[in-house]
Amino acid sequence: MLAFNVAGLMGSVPGTDRRYEIHDASLELPDDLRLAEPINGNVRLSRTTRSILADADLTTALQETCSRCLRPIVSPVHVELREEALPSVDLHTGLPLDTSAEPDALRIDDHHVLDLGGPVGDAISMAEPIAPLCRPDCRGLCPICGADLNDNPGHGHPDEPVDPRLASLASWDATDTDVG
Ligand SMILES: [Zn+2]
Ligand SMILES: [Zn+2]
Repeated sequence: MLAFNVAGLMGSVPGTDRRYEIHDASLELPDDLRLAEPINGNVRLSRTTRSILADADLTTALQETCSRCLRPIVSPVHVELREEALPSVDLHTGLPLDTSAEPDALRIDDHHVLDLGGPVGDAISMAEPIAPLCRPDCRGLCPICGADLNDNPGHGHPDEPVDPRLASLASWDATDTDVG
């Protein structure tokens, strides 16, 4: 649903543009990312002398995990991108164009379809928060037993030393007493 037939636009004079509203689009994302909400927003396609310029302004949300307490969370994502798409066939003859000069360019396919799925997926992936949090003051998990400290604010282990060096000291003391 992020693919557009641009045959008509390719036949228009440079400067012509078309606007599309995107409603509840879905998309396969790279890197095991999963959408928590469909994609909404708008896309503007403009004819340039040699290409179609696509401007997209889209919002969605990603299914994430809190980086401190590991609860599933939904992270809103907003992406704005501008991509230039070049034709892969001559509009008038239908013959393939030489694409070797710009092998990495986004291409309008030979049916005049411009698919923004790849660039939008990449932009959403780049917008993924690095360390998402369920809330700014998430207390995370107990480093000793893994208890969720958000649910147990008074949680602690007063009888067990937290530092492993203290733990080995404690056992050494006990051994020493036995030998002593
Ligand atoms: Zn959390
Ligand atoms: Zn604990």
